Amino acid sequence: MSNSLLYRHLYAWYETNHRALPWRETDDAYAIWLSEIILQQTRVLQGLDYWRRFMARWPDVESLAAADEAEVLREWQGLGYYSRARNLHKAAQQIVNNQASQDKNAKVVFPKTFEDIRALPGVGDYTAGAIASFAYNQPYPAMDGNVYRVVARLLDIDEAFDTSAGKRLFHKHIEVLLDRENPRLFNSAIMEFGALYCTPSLGDNCAHCPLQAHCAAYMHGTAELLPIRKPRPKVRDRWFTYHVYVNYQQSTVSNQPSDVFTLIRRRENPKDIWYHLYEFPCEETQSERLKVNGERIIDLTHVLSHQKIHARFLVHKTQKMPELPGTIVIRWDELNDYALSRLTLRALDTLRLTPPN
Ligand code: SF4
Repeated sequence: MSNSLLYRHLYAWYETNHRALPWRETDDAYAIWLSEIILQQTRVLQGLDYWRRFMARWPDVESLAAADEAEVLREWQGLGYYSRARNLHKAAQQIVNNQASQDKNAKVVFPKTFEDIRALPGVGDYTAGAIASFAYNQPYPAMDGNVYRVVARLLDIDEAFDTSAGKRLFHKHIEVLLDRENPRLFNSAIMEFGALYCTPSLGDNCAHCPLQAHCAAYMHGTAELLPIRKPRPKVRDRWFTYHVYVNYQQSTVSNQPSDVFTLIRRRENPKDIWYHLYEFPCEETQSERLKVNGERIIDLTHVLSHQKIHARFLVHKTQKMPELPGTIVIRWDELNDYALSRLTLRALDTLRLTPPN
């Protein structure tokens, strides 16, 4: 069956069913890039809120480049995978610096070729293809997880799509499928079709599918088995014990007795999780949470993609803050001004239900 018939059926479905999302209504490459980075590990509804806040605060590359990394991390708080925020900021600075080195007075513009976009920190083949096609209508595929699934089913491919060989194979196929006259529409439509219709659990979607006549997996009865993934790496367990020091009386910052103070520390290992985020002083142990007394104990389990954190938060009321390397004393209500990990925010939610004072 011809590609043109496939396009006709796919676009008709898209026209009726697609979600109205602001980054689809624009060809501003910056706005599209921002949406793509936010949506890499985030659901659309949650991402929309963050995208709007970022666009309102930093509406273009120049303003984002001029921001402090700490402010960007703070705005990103709650989305997780903070390397995305760091790379976003670094990429904005790279774009501005590259252009300033050529012509200081020229208006800063987002890179326009696939290669230049791909060279930005945090941008892989998928994101570069998405920006090149959505912003500039250039004929590059944008293979996200949804597209891999649709392609695997349309062509009944029983190879893992997330290995190097699998990626090459799928890439060859999508190059043949891609609508070179309408790459923006094609990529938008196939991604949306995978997100909303050709989903991991199919129910009885296949029976009413507008692409049924093009779908080899449907014909062979293999749709539910696809796509194939390589085996997942084992999840690593870690045990963190956090010390939440709470001081009511005195501090090095202020003499107001009504203030409540605490101690926080920034994570400084670039190879570990939550680099440059703040948290309460933490001790990591090998096989279980520390058995130490605190005035209050909160145990939380926090699951990341490859790690499971077994956390314990111990509240210590104290008249004098301990002197711990790398820590700073802040007022309790200033915690909101620091970029904190999702785990710390979860603990704070519980602590705030019954404030420490
Ligand atoms: S027939 Fe089923 S598996 Fe094939 S494209 Fe449609 S929904 Fe996906």
